[in-house]
Amino acid sequence: MAYSEENDPRTKYYTQEFPKQYQEPPALQMKMKPKPDCGEESYIGSGKLTGKKVLVTGGDSGIGRAAAIAYAREGADLAINYLPEEQPDAEEVKKLIEAEGRKAVLIPGDLSSEDFCKELVDQAYRELGGLDVLALVAGMQQAVEDISDLPTEQLYKTFEVNLFSLYWIVKAALPHLPKGASIITTSSVEGYNPSPILLDYAATKHAIIGFTVALGKQLAPKGIRVNSVAPGPIWTPLQICGGQLSENIPKFGQGTPPTPLNRAGQPAELAGAYVLLASDESSYSTCQVYSVTGGMPTP
Ligand code: NAD
Ligand code: MG
Repeated sequence: MAYSEENDPRTKYYTQEFPKQYQEPPALQMKMKPKPDCGEESYIGSGKLTGKKVLVTGGDSGIGRAAAIAYAREGADLAINYLPEEQPDAEEVKKLIEAEGRKAVLIPGDLSSEDFCKELVDQAYRELGGLDVLALVAGMQQAVEDISDLPTEQLYKTFEVNLFSLYWIVKAALPHLPKGASIITTSSVEGYNPSPILLDYAATKHAIIGFTVALGKQLAPKGIRVNSVAPGPIWTPLQICGGQLSENIPKFGQGTPPTPLNRAGQPAELAGAYVLLASDESSYSTCQVYSVTGGMPTP
């Protein structure tokens, strides 16, 4: 194949500086400049998940949206969770899923409530008529430079949303999951190489890796696989609603933090990992973390 900028990993996606921007959390992807690329125009499926029933948390935007689009194009029916404020982004995803002839069940609600996590799983199971894959992508990130300024309320919320909801969702889903089911968590390069401004977030991402490996060992005898995806710096709403210091937005993924590929990733570049871990093709992979970091090293 001849060289083209479109297949060079350095130039395949956006490489310029990002315009400074801020939205209150949770930010809407549709208002971002440039809009993250979640594979809306590019992802091509090949029947890898035909007939599977998948719950995606954080499926309205960013990495979760990229996974949801890919799952639908691979033949899966989907339940999508997000916060009620994100309804406009979620409606876009529903349209994209339905355009593939797949089912899209929208279930808004706050994952920091254990009761809601149970309701979410029950509704997804009921309306999809089963559950084969949990793609647990939702997360929150608020940068705070000094531990003295880290509000206890934020500390609880970050742990509830990023970490505790995984326990609550898995507990509720386990009675429904068949042998061959796959659970995918979302950790981060921050779980290995934490930033000084993400004391709470990085700790949850490190803990998610421990949770994933321990749960994978616990569920292997039941024929259920558990893996995690660890993204590097990816251009998503999470970053522009307080996830990064605003002065770091322009060079996000370039100078701060630096990546060997010298650019931020786009959510579309994560879709392949979520598809692989959901599909039966990865039947011998469990208790693993799959890094998609632009080359930032992970153990
Ligand atoms: P995103 O903002 O598009 O997705 C995060 C989603 O989490 C939101 O859309 C929202 O629906 C959901 N969420 C947040 N708080 C919630 C709550 N209380 N209840 C229910 N849902 C809630 O951003 P993203 O970057 O695609 O994030 C997806 C995952 O990827 C997160 O777990 C994040 O930690 C992880 N991650 C992102 C990056 C990055 O650079 N963007 C890097 C490493 C890991
Ligand atoms: Mg969102």
